[in-house]
Amino acid sequence: MSWPVMKAAEIEVIGASWAPCKSTRPVLHPTSFRVGAGRVLGVVGPNGAGKSTLLRLLYRFQKPHSGQIRVDGQDIWAMSARSAAKRIAAVLQEQASTFGLSVREIVRLGRTPHRRALTGATGSDERIVSQILESLGLQDFADRDFGTLSGGERQRVMVARALAQEPQVLILDEPTNHLDVRHQLEVVSLIRGLGLTIVVSLHDLNMANGLCDDVLVLKNGYSQGFGPPRTLLTDRLVSDTFRVEARREKLAPSGTPHFSFSLPI
Ligand code: ADP
Repeated sequence: MSWPVMKAAEIEVIGASWAPCKSTRPVLHPTSFRVGAGRVLGVVGPNGAGKSTLLRLLYRFQKPHSGQIRVDGQDIWAMSARSAAKRIAAVLQEQASTFGLSVREIVRLGRTPHRRALTGATGSDERIVSQILESLGLQDFADRDFGTLSGGERQRVMVARALAQEPQVLILDEPTNHLDVRHQLEVVSLIRGLGLTIVVSLHDLNMANGLCDDVLVLKNGYSQGFGPPRTLLTDRLVSDTFRVEARREKLAPSGTPHFSFSLPI
């Protein structure tokens, strides 16, 4: 596989919070953490915990009410939207804007931040798009209408579009939602192999265990802890956060911990 050269960057969140408006309670309270270049951070927590809100701050869709988001030490709100888009790309769940487009056209959209105003795709844009399509095994789909692809194939296309931005940091909002087990594993292995700095929200704690270097646990907009999943995700923390009885078992032969869940009695 030949990738366009991409360089990972550190992303740092310093006391970032967000509320729908000034007079309402924050849905994300001041939160701080750092993700080193090339590391994978998983954001986990129950529905409504603030995961998507945090991700929207990270890809510069919403401005934090307090605090800062820095990429390699630079505040993302002190740079233009275009500069930020060259550093941070997102793979989101909504795909409405892709209606009627071919796979190649969608991946080409990722080159937008690199183009001058009113200019079309250059030869170098097309080279990068072709390289990425090939690297993700999408070359045979290039001319297909996006709407005709399976869920797993669509997710790969959305990752390809994000990679066409040549970002240093990739944000993914529940990328394995609605995928069968096989496609979940494919997406996880793809994410792991990119070598970029990754922040990914996940529903599945067992997936977080296997995929992430660090995990941030959120509940009601508050951080419940940050650290490597094997040490952070204790039975107690998971049970309290998700309001279940969680039990972690070590499964032979890999030794990767695996949670089983039941409702509290
Ligand atoms: P999660 O991704 O963990 O499910 P979200 O970040 O989507 O959680 O939402 C956290 C809480 O913030 C929810 O209660 C949600 O209703 C609320 N919220 C998110 N965005 C807005 C908004 N724009 N206006 C009002 N409430 C919001």
